[in-house]
Amino acid sequence: MATSPFETAVQQFDNAARYLRLPPGIADVLRTPRRELTVHFPVKMDDGSLKMFTGYRVQHSTAAGPAKGGLRYHPNVTLDEVKALAMWMTWKCAVVNVPFGGAKGGVVCNPKEMSQGELERLTRRFTTEISCIIGPMEDIPAPDVNTTPQTMAWIMDTYTMHAGTQHLAVVTGKPVEVGGSLGRNEATGRGVMITAIEALKRLGREIQGATVAVQGYGNVGSISAYLLQDQGAKIIAVSDSRGAIYNPVGLNAREVLRYKQETGSVVGYPGATVISDAELLTLPCDVLVPAALEEVITGENAERIRAKVIVEGANGPTTPEADEILTRRGIMIVPDILANAGGVTVSYFEWVQDLQTFFWSEEEVNARLRQHIVHSFADVYRIAQEKGVNMRIAAYIKAIARVAKAIELRGIYP
Ligand code: NAD
Repeated sequence: MATSPFETAVQQFDNAARYLRLPPGIADVLRTPRRELTVHFPVKMDDGSLKMFTGYRVQHSTAAGPAKGGLRYHPNVTLDEVKALAMWMTWKCAVVNVPFGGAKGGVVCNPKEMSQGELERLTRRFTTEISCIIGPMEDIPAPDVNTTPQTMAWIMDTYTMHAGTQHLAVVTGKPVEVGGSLGRNEATGRGVMITAIEALKRLGREIQGATVAVQGYGNVGSISAYLLQDQGAKIIAVSDSRGAIYNPVGLNAREVLRYKQETGSVVGYPGATVISDAELLTLPCDVLVPAALEEVITGENAERIRAKVIVEGANGPTTPEADEILTRRGIMIVPDILANAGGVTVSYFEWVQDLQTFFWSEEEVNARLRQHIVHSFADVYRIAQEKGVNMRIAAYIKAIARVAKAIELRGIYP
């Protein structure tokens, strides 16, 4: 049984690699992160004291192109978690045919207890510490849990200051005023919305009137919720780290977001019943969107899940044990590497626009995003049908085959 996110990631890889005849040694290359950088650095706090922080940047693979992946600020960040997230990024880019490898970064900190000034100094120092391995053609960070377009602007500015020339393409997820792409902020949620609709279609159901529960009401969760609502779905429950709210008649996703922005939580939203986050996960509904953190759907609660489709907005929300149970129970899971790949897809568009210094309209971004995700969903669904496997294994088969081919074509240096 996997006991850590990285063990889960390796187990998921092994489950799918069995279906591919990988050349000897290639599976070992793919199982192992290429680089793991750990940095310890001081930050001057507002009260004049110095505080030491620890951060990581892991590049799992650069076979398909520059490494790409988000940066997380959270007290529970560990090297193990960052390694897992980096590996998932490799597969995610490959599954949606984006020419990047996989990376991830994180800083152990509690941004909720830090001022903007402290966060800026932390970000600029961390960028400096990892600047030996990041770059527009090397490794391109992006936002993840508790990092924002503002964080990305600081990273870009710091890198540019060191280089002495503009490097807009060193990070994605920037504000549009400094080289960001229109549509990037909503892209991950938009991908969740598109894959949820595609999944329901395969089950012969419509999005109109479908009931949806969303765990986590941050960037991914809240945007998935209101975009699904715009398509006619009924959002019956949402949660954040303080608890969950439920209304079987449907919540107004945008108003709930406004309420959370004003009060700091969805809990307390008028006209909804407060339930526990655990209860939200087992509500009867058509679509369950876990959009918070890893390992929330486990061997312990998988038997009680009553959703018809799980669309993984978060990375790694389902343990391998839960995966087996849900597959046996016939519950369709749209795996993270496909469901939340909208973010990295538009990050790729942002990088392309930055390199060309030529920016697209939001309609163009959204249309190209839809095309990538719908095609990728169809590929994965076809593999699942042909091989008689679940969507996760099918997505991994597609992704691993692509990266393995890239390694084979490049050859092993020297
Ligand atoms: P975020 O910080 O904007 O939001 C996270 C949300 O989860 C917050 O509302 C928080 O309150 C909530 N949360 C935390 N712990 C919780 C718990 N125990 N129960 C319920 N809710 C809880 O982060 P985000 O960017 O939305 O990322 C969420 C997930 O999606 C992560 O797994 C991340 O790796 C993944 N993801 C994000 C992106 C992106 O573009 N932002 C892209 C792909 C994947």
